[in-house]
Amino acid sequence: MYDFVIIGSGLGGLESAYMLSKEGYKVCVLEKNRQLGGSLQIFVRDKAIFDTGIHYIGGLDEGQNLNQCFKYFDIMDKLKLHKMDEDGFDVITFDNDPVEYKHAQGYDNFVERLTAQFPKEREAIKTYVNKIQEVCDYFPLYQLKENNSPSVGIKYLDDCASDYIASITDDVKLQNVLAGSNPLYAGEAHKTPIYVHALVVNTYIESSYKCIDGGAQIERHLSRNIKAQGGEIRNYAEVVKIVEKDGFIRHVELKDGEIVEGKHFISNIHPANTMEIIETDKLKNAYRHRLLGLKNSTSAFILDVVLKPNTFKYRNNNFYHYKRDDVWSSAHVTGKDWPDGYCIFIPKSSKPGEYADSMSILSYMQLEEVKEWEDSFATIPHNRDKRGDDYEEFKINRAERLLDEVEKKFPDIRQCIKSYTTATPLTYRDYIGTKDGSLYGIAKDYKDPVRTFISPTTKIPNLFFTGQNLSMHGVLGVTVGAIRTCGAFIGQNNLINKINKA
Ligand SMILES: Cc1cc2nc3c(=O)[nH]c(=O)nc-3n(C[C@H](O)[C@H](O)[C@H](O)COP(=O)(O)OP(=O)(O)OC[C@H]3O[C@@H](n4cnc5c(N)ncnc54)[C@H](O)[C@@H]3O)c2cc1C
Repeated sequence: MYDFVIIGSGLGGLESAYMLSKEGYKVCVLEKNRQLGGSLQIFVRDKAIFDTGIHYIGGLDEGQNLNQCFKYFDIMDKLKLHKMDEDGFDVITFDNDPVEYKHAQGYDNFVERLTAQFPKEREAIKTYVNKIQEVCDYFPLYQLKENNSPSVGIKYLDDCASDYIASITDDVKLQNVLAGSNPLYAGEAHKTPIYVHALVVNTYIESSYKCIDGGAQIERHLSRNIKAQGGEIRNYAEVVKIVEKDGFIRHVELKDGEIVEGKHFISNIHPANTMEIIETDKLKNAYRHRLLGLKNSTSAFILDVVLKPNTFKYRNNNFYHYKRDDVWSSAHVTGKDWPDGYCIFIPKSSKPGEYADSMSILSYMQLEEVKEWEDSFATIPHNRDKRGDDYEEFKINRAERLLDEVEKKFPDIRQCIKSYTTATPLTYRDYIGTKDGSLYGIAKDYKDPVRTFISPTTKIPNLFFTGQNLSMHGVLGVTVGAIRTCGAFIGQNNLINKINKA
């Protein structure tokens, strides 16, 4: 019998498996897909590598939080990383405005670069960066500091990101530039809390890196290390039932009927999905309904473009473009008005030369846009292209509309394209297993912070949660979530000490 059965091999599942197997526990990770890693997965088209859910990572400079965590996971010196443009890792642009507004790495650099573009706004920009750092200080786990107070972080749970940014300057352009990397957390006006914005942008301002040839290397190295510590990882192992008896989870059942027993169970899948497959009367209906009723962050349409050789020069930045001076409401634009904006991520390949192999163009998209095909299921190698010709037509139509917008900024883009492939909310739904293809899971709401707060523990003493729905999404957010989950067994402060000593 395993000490820990972990459902899902997303980053949170793998990190938990690593921490627990390092402590000598016998762990088994069960993954429904062929490829491990959830949103760490990559895929290849026309020899170009595409990320599905990791376009860049923050906090990886020596001495920074994720660098230290990755040392503890024994992957830091194995990863192939490329530092992004220190003077403008993120470039924010708007229709009818030729200026490229830049987010720079390092807080002083961030202030100086942006002040050069908004000379009258130095004080507002300084106020903003001070606030971001102050908010982050209230979340000690993110600084890998011991967390001895249950109230830590509470101060900023119910402050609104968009309202705060609007309060520090009347310059609407600057407000939108400060929040310009909004798709990193799918922020919504008068909803997204300041701490979500702060914890995400802080990590990238500290330092920003791309994974050379994609983020799946994180999964590969973690998986190798877990196996070296005696852990097991199984693919094609979809959990369809979590079975409780006498107050404890006894086993999970796989799609083919196999039973996997364990002493503890960690769900790395969405809490709502967990509620749907658990067989128990030990969880109160109010708790179940809360988890089942939580709203998720939006989904997206993604256009993955293979570029003709030597046509498009690699740019060491990400691009966030908006049609309007309102970065907070793009997610709600649908139908004929779509797309309202987009972001472009250019993968860094290990091939020599100054040209890019590919680019991923992402624009928010609601599940409603693809509702007529919601009864279909398609992943590769299963059920490839099973959604029908009208779905393919829809995707081509949206891809071309997106390219019409991108062409305004990169006029020659169409001539650079060798081929492209697309992903819709249904693609993310089917690969990751969420109901609506949500990018980042449960959407946080400053008006109701406790409702969207998920504890790693449940009323069933041997059932736990980990993954992006716990603390936050993103590589750092999920890592902090895994520390919270495994802290329940290893001792949180003990674990933090071990990480800091790695
Ligand atoms: C388009 C996109 C872009 C992103 N860009 C970035 C970025 O640039 N930087 C960054 O830091 N973060 C980014 N993120 C966020 C980041 O990728 C995620 O927050 C993180 O990878 C989620 O990890 P997780 O542990 O929650 O697991 P997930 O990735 O959600 O994986 C869950 C796993 O569980 C498996 N599973 C589901 N149901 C079952 C079942 N019943 N049985 C067995 N297995 C099951 C799934 O197949 C999947 O492998 C992005 C996400 C998306 C979608």
